[in-house]
Amino acid sequence: MALSIDQDRLLSEINTLALFSDAEAPAVTRIVFTPTDLKARAWMKARCEEAGLTVRQDAVGNIFALWTGSDPAAPVVGTGSHIDAIPNAGKYDGVVGVLGGLHAIRALQQSGFRPKHSIELLIFTSEEPTRFGIGCLGSRLLSGALSADAARKLTDSDGATLDEVRQGAGCAGELQAVKLPSGYYKAFVELHIEQGPLLERQEIPLGIVTKIAAPASLRVLIEGSGGHAGGVLMPDRHDALCAAAELILAIENTARTGGAIDTVATVGICEVFPGAVNSIPSRVRLSVDIRDTDLHRRDVVMQTIETACHSIAVKRQVVIHNDLLNADAPADCAPAIIETLSQSCRKHELSFIPMVSRAYHDSLFMARIAPVAMLFIPCRNGYSHRPDEYACPEDICRGALVLAETLATLSK
Ligand SMILES: [Zn+2]
Repeated sequence: MALSIDQDRLLSEINTLALFSDAEAPAVTRIVFTPTDLKARAWMKARCEEAGLTVRQDAVGNIFALWTGSDPAAPVVGTGSHIDAIPNAGKYDGVVGVLGGLHAIRALQQSGFRPKHSIELLIFTSEEPTRFGIGCLGSRLLSGALSADAARKLTDSDGATLDEVRQGAGCAGELQAVKLPSGYYKAFVELHIEQGPLLERQEIPLGIVTKIAAPASLRVLIEGSGGHAGGVLMPDRHDALCAAAELILAIENTARTGGAIDTVATVGICEVFPGAVNSIPSRVRLSVDIRDTDLHRRDVVMQTIETACHSIAVKRQVVIHNDLLNADAPADCAPAIIETLSQSCRKHELSFIPMVSRAYHDSLFMARIAPVAMLFIPCRNGYSHRPDEYACPEDICRGALVLAETLATLSK
């Protein structure tokens, strides 16, 4: 079986898909279920049908393109990613996994390969949280990580419910029906740009992901007491922002001293009320994002943060409310698929390293219902989610080639 990826066609399709954008090139903005996104979806479905795949769409708009194997009842081998893009993003995040997956299937078809297990390309709905405030919407529903009832409560910033928006976009059916039975997929492999600098720095073309880190998010509200910046003397103050400052440093310190390089914690939002130059901050709202590849270690960090909240509240006589917004579990990739990916790399004499996915992906949720693994290719300077995101054609093709080889082995 001689596999070859049609580099010109793959690149031209990546460039064509990037034209479906609400931002001016080179930026790509493609928010789920906007008219632009719907055009991109229709274009993708047409490409899949052109490749002879059977295309279906579920109630939340996940798109499945199936290449039926010689044993149609056998569990399916899946690959895919997303095509939605945050405002002012680039053209490779997600897209490399979708078009790379399609080209892997085309390469297999052209080589004369005939799979025993069906091979399916999956295009997940709304990997990015832009519209509904929750990332990986499609894969959360597919895996049961998000219930249909919880999904129905989601609204966009215009107050439109997910049901209204998806039905308006032509996604019929009930959200309950989206969940896939575990066992549906024999394996799921996602090709993606690294979104970090390690592969490029080490001049290694491929990374095989062994673990996917997962975030926990907290919303912290600190209530102190406000007052006139001149009138209230220092001993009488309960400044909410000073308490927040102490807490932010405690969070940083907890992650730094947690004992593992994979532990990270970030306070990304700090809203100060009333936000006037001559007024003591009475209230502060913080967002906290804590990630790790190890659930227990992340839980220890979260407990330490809770203890810090308590002691700072007592010391500064403020009230600190701590709301857990979500805490997805990290995932381990399946050793058998990691081994298959490694063998595929060796077969094509491509060097690779094991990696941790620091960002989360749809594969994090697919791991709940299927053995998963991910394959990373380098991206320039590690840039992603910005217009100058770039992966070179050779790297994209190497990724698609190794993916094709891997899908072949898994579907035999
Ligand atoms: Zn992505």
